[in-house]
Parts: sequence; structure tokens; C-alpha cells
Amino acid sequence: VPRRKIVASSEVEQSYIMIKPDGVQRGLVGEIISRFEKKGFLLKGLKLFQCPKDLAQEHYKDLKDRPFFPKLIDYITSGPVVCMAWEGDGVVASARKLIGATNPLQAEPGTIRGDLAVQTGRNVVHGSDSPDNGKREIALWFKEGELCQWESVQTPWLIE
Ligand code: GDP
Ligand code: MG
Repeated sequence: VPRRKIVASSEVEQSYIMIKPDGVQRGLVGEIISRFEKKGFLLKGLKLFQCPKDLAQEHYKDLKDRPFFPKLIDYITSGPVVCMAWEGDGVVASARKLIGATNPLQAEPGTIRGDLAVQTGRNVVHGSDSPDNGKREIALWFKEGELCQWESVQTPWLIE
């Protein structure tokens, strides 16, 4: 099988996926990572991290005027989160489908939220909503050198 050329990361779509503190506390880390791995996206960054308040506020700045914002910041900073950068063509929209609707009661069975959660305020996982936000969020949550440039041996079996 021919080797594909390694494309510079900035050219490839990336999504910031985060397992929220409830997902970590409930022992769902392996289950959630597994869904993105099995789908066939490429993991470029991964860490367990206690999020400071100012970072949570920056990440969710578009929601700062919503009534639930203080509760959202308390939730996201209430324990460690798992930060991930996933890469691949179409990863942003596909990850949103794998994650399911914001309200887990409305999320389809088979999605992460549809299978594993019951409330919007405890919906176990975050996924970027656009490729631009994917880049912005990965830059916000990861430092220089925390992402790995590597090529999976599976790639030629996933992408023709
Ligand atoms: P997402 O992109 O599906 O995560 O949803 P949004 O970007 O609209 O909201 C971001 C996060 O804020 C959600 O995932 C929830 O954790 C939280 N959130 C949104 N709406 C509500 C709400 O009405 N009540 C509470 N408690 N949290 C909310
Ligand atoms: Mg969102």
C-alpha cells in the first residue's frame, strides 16, 4: 500500500473535543475516546487537565450573557477534563453527529449524549461547532509542543 504524504496540520481540519468533568467522574473516558478512534479520525493531542476559571470563561465567551453561564463555568471547572485534538476531513461536523444534540434527552440513541447522559447541564462532552472554532479552541487549550505530528498505520485502510 503506498504511503500517503504527511500533510501539514494547518491544512487539515481539526476539532477540539473535550470530555467534561461528569464524563471523567463517571468513568466514561475510555468509552468516549473509543468512539472517535473507531470512527477513524486521527488523535493529535490528549491530556487530563484541571481547567482554570478564566480559560473556561474564554472558551464559552459567546455564552457569557446567558443565565446558565455561571453554572456552566462551575461545571467545567469542577474537576479534571480530558482535552483532545482530533483531525481529519469533515471531523468537525462528524464529531458533532457522534456527540449528538446539546440536550441529551433529544440526542439520538447511538450518539454519545443520546447513550450516556440525561441533562443539558451534564452532557459529558464538548465538540467544536466550526473548523475555525476547532483551530481557535485547540490553540486555547493546548500549548506549543503538546500536539503530536504522526501518521497512523491505519490511514491507507481508511482513506483511498
Ligand atoms: P453544544 O455546542 O452542543 O455543547 O451547546 P452550546 O454551545 O449551545 O452550549 C455549550 C454548553 O453549555 C452545553 O454543552 C451545555 O453544557 C451548556 N448549556 C447550554 N445550554 C444550557 C442550559 O440551558 N442550561 C445549562 N445548565 N447548561 C447549558
Ligand atoms: Mg457549542
